[in-house]
Amino acid sequence: MAKTLSIAPLHTELDSIILEGLHSRIEERFRPCYSSISLNEKIRDPNNSCLQFLDGQPCLNLIYLIEYGRLLPPYLLINGDVLVVTDHYGKMYDSLTKGIAFVDDLASLAMISTQNMLDEPEKILRRLVALAIHEVGHMNGLPHHVLKNPDGYYCPMAPSSIDSLPESKAYPMDFRSDEFCNECIRNLKKQLSDK
Ligand SMILES: [Zn+2]
Ligand SMILES: [Zn+2]
Repeated sequence: MAKTLSIAPLHTELDSIILEGLHSRIEERFRPCYSSISLNEKIRDPNNSCLQFLDGQPCLNLIYLIEYGRLLPPYLLINGDVLVVTDHYGKMYDSLTKGIAFVDDLASLAMISTQNMLDEPEKILRRLVALAIHEVGHMNGLPHHVLKNPDGYYCPMAPSSIDSLPESKAYPMDFRSDEFCNECIRNLKKQLSDK
């Protein structure tokens, strides 16, 4: 049976309208990959046990969430993929990031962050969608892919590293399309049929 995807807002003040917009865009792109894609209620971890500080910045530690997700409401424990949406940076090992995915046989957990995204709601939504497509793409087996479309946007699987996207230091997601390129669509279909 196909797996499920839960969108899990954790420590976020994001407007519900933006979260619902994110949910519907993710459903449009990933429907064939999942038996269901749900948007969970906003939660806070009452003990802040998944919050850490790095360089004075509060951040959510992804590894800690995977290990201690059981301390949080049960949806972080369900079998399937979880996309955490948070206002904090994510932390993986020793760096802060706005988007990360951790995938192995036991847990698939990705995180996207609204850090430094203060802007009009449409722009925030577009940035979150671009980040989410990239990370959910990783959870579905897609590797990085550097391809620039004729319209000037990169494939959403383009990495955010400065090397490959020199002009995009502040908001790499602004340079990514919110639609997969044909090669990544073929790759996604192949991953599905190989299962
Ligand atoms: Zn990536
Ligand atoms: Zn691609």
